[in-house]
Amino acid sequence: MDRRWIHGALFTPDYIDGVRNFMKFVEERFPGDAAILCPCSRCINQKSMAQRDVERHILLNGMSSTYTRWIHHGEANDVHVLEEPVDVDPHSNPIEHENNAADRVEDILTDLMGAQVPCNNAANGDGNPSSNHESVFKTLMEEAKHELYPGCTQFSRFSFVVKMLHLKSYYRISNSAFSAQLKVLRKAFPENNCLPNSYEEAKKMLRTLGLGYVSIHVCPNNCVLFRKEYAELDTCPVCQASRWKDPVNKKVPEKVLRHFPLIPRLQRIFATKKTAEEAQWHKLNREPKEKEMSHPADGEAWKDFDKCWPDFAEDARNLRLGLATDGFNPFGNMKLARLLMLLKLLDL
Ligand SMILES: [Zn+2]
Ligand SMILES: [Zn+2]
Repeated sequence: MDRRWIHGALFTPDYIDGVRNFMKFVEERFPGDAAILCPCSRCINQKSMAQRDVERHILLNGMSSTYTRWIHHGEANDVHVLEEPVDVDPHSNPIEHENNAADRVEDILTDLMGAQVPCNNAANGDGNPSSNHESVFKTLMEEAKHELYPGCTQFSRFSFVVKMLHLKSYYRISNSAFSAQLKVLRKAFPENNCLPNSYEEAKKMLRTLGLGYVSIHVCPNNCVLFRKEYAELDTCPVCQASRWKDPVNKKVPEKVLRHFPLIPRLQRIFATKKTAEEAQWHKLNREPKEKEMSHPADGEAWKDFDKCWPDFAEDARNLRLGLATDGFNPFGNMKLARLLMLLKLLDL
């Protein structure tokens, strides 16, 4: 099933054909007068309506970009679908989005400098305060101003590297192919350019900004994470499996969990004016309406929490962590292992 049209530009023949196919798919499974869930990017399968309206919605709003398996419309979960996006027009492809993303990163840097917040564990993510956070941000600001090469006005070195890394992950370019490309680009660009030399070097730039991740070795059978009291072990204390692919060399771990440290991310919310305002919207600007959910704060769980901890609820800056169980099947073995690992990680 070719579902690539979902990512394509609206009003193109491919897109319109795609919508027609979807409606045909629906017709084969539902009576003509039956209301169906609308998978448009606004309703995202939360509202039911007449099929004609659904068609209009998808044409005008676009199909929800993640709805490639039509499970709410009777398609089996395991159907093979082709969903790699097509680059229909340069204005709708990821490079364009990336432009915005890179610009935002520079905004964040500017704000960080102004705010001088104590993002003390942004760099190491382990909660060890570092005393020189101010100088870290100064360096980062300098980095953001760094020209890609003398006279380049299109990119800073930072925005260029972010774009390249985005393309790398989007098109699944291997690490060595990426490094090889960087080497060619370095040669082709004017002298004195400051492109990183390799994938590792490019990644390091993001890591310094606190956008990196922490790798935690895991028992191949998911019993434990090799951290805290298990950090130095070479075998799993529960099932005795080796931590390493080659137990003699101890270089390549059997399994790695990539953990995005939470605290620096939470701190970053309050490091920029825009996100800090958005994070408090629910308390300062929201106008709750009877029987309408506009925010998790309208939900019973949130209200109940507020009742239990009124002091915490009082402050608009309070942040809550939601645990989404979408995709977990607690009665299936594989999924259970994943859930257990998550709970362990959260120290629950
Ligand atoms: Zn809709
Ligand atoms: Zn084990």
